Amino acid sequence: MQVLVTGGAGFIGSNFIRFMLGKHPNYTIVNMDALTYAGNLENLKEVQHSPQYHFVKGDIGDRELVERTIRTHRIDAIVNFAAESHVDRSIADPGVFVRTNVLGTQVLLEAARTLQIRKYVQISTDEVYGTLGDTGCFTEATPLAPNSPYSASKASADMMVRAYFETYGMNVNITRCSNNYGPYHFPEKLIPLMITNALEDRALPVYGDGLHVRDWLHVQDHAAAVDLVLHNGKAGAVYNIGGHNERRNIDIVKLILKLLMKPDTLIQFVPDRLGHDRRYAIDASTIEAELGWKPVYTFEQGIQETVRWYVDHESWWRRVKSGAYQTYYRRQYGHT
Ligand code: NAD
Repeated sequence: MQVLVTGGAGFIGSNFIRFMLGKHPNYTIVNMDALTYAGNLENLKEVQHSPQYHFVKGDIGDRELVERTIRTHRIDAIVNFAAESHVDRSIADPGVFVRTNVLGTQVLLEAARTLQIRKYVQISTDEVYGTLGDTGCFTEATPLAPNSPYSASKASADMMVRAYFETYGMNVNITRCSNNYGPYHFPEKLIPLMITNALEDRALPVYGDGLHVRDWLHVQDHAAAVDLVLHNGKAGAVYNIGGHNERRNIDIVKLILKLLMKPDTLIQFVPDRLGHDRRYAIDASTIEAELGWKPVYTFEQGIQETVRWYVDHESWWRRVKSGAYQTYYRRQYGHT
């Protein structure tokens, strides 16, 4: 199989590419990535010389380039990870989220349709469902009710994927996963931000009261789920993916401090994010029953390994946190 993976230089995409090349050594993986601030080819160092791996620098919104790449590499399937992915950035500047997440997805779908690609998988998020009260879970039938420009752009893309299935009968799937964690996670997101700030003995900025709840899944478990959907997903189906692992933000932060043997006094509560969703929880029973997926990592094992990875890869995150990251950080949190 020849698979076009878009956004493969980011956190989840790079983990997915490593997973795929390990699991399917005779597949060809073509990674198309625009290398925005979040794209980092260092994430793929181990595979960059593999004859089964090719990199194309480019924007998923560039139809001509997308079509040329599909033709050149005789692509059979597309897995679209490419996105602007950070909620805080979408609050500051929503426009680029619409361009990449909505228009970019439509360009990929149109190229897949005209060039008769066998399978298209859209990597979406549980955030499209909005927020939950203290109980209950999102199922695939939960109505979409996105609350941030990021989740609204992802929900819009999902609607376009659905339309390509209903209108053209394309073989598409949508996956909606909960929060991922693991190696190569960009340190603007909760877990790597807290680990790296703690390692630097800097304040750990926690939004609001810290009682927001997220479901956390190891990125390798997500990669395994996407692989199953790519091969066995029923045409047109949506699959929720989650870890049965709900945690309050403050508890995660305290656990990280404990693992690093740093004091809780590093925690600094900061004004809450605008429109901050209170709780997400995922019912992943469809993918478990239909495709036989279940997570392998326990959170306790996964978070320990992740903390260890950041301790062992200081030069990786120090490079990521230099330069433009500093400007972003000051705008978001001041000088904490
Ligand atoms: P990321 O920000 O780490 O990576 C995104 C990648 O997309 C980067 O390499 C970036 O350079 C690339 N990109 C951005 N705009 C592009 C464009 N116009 N053309 C080509 N490439 C472009 O994001 P991530 O955390 O790895 O998330 C990947 C996907 O998974 C996203 O679609 C996101 O919505 C979804 N998702 C993420 C999570 C999570 O917890 N991180 C959870 C569920 C779903």
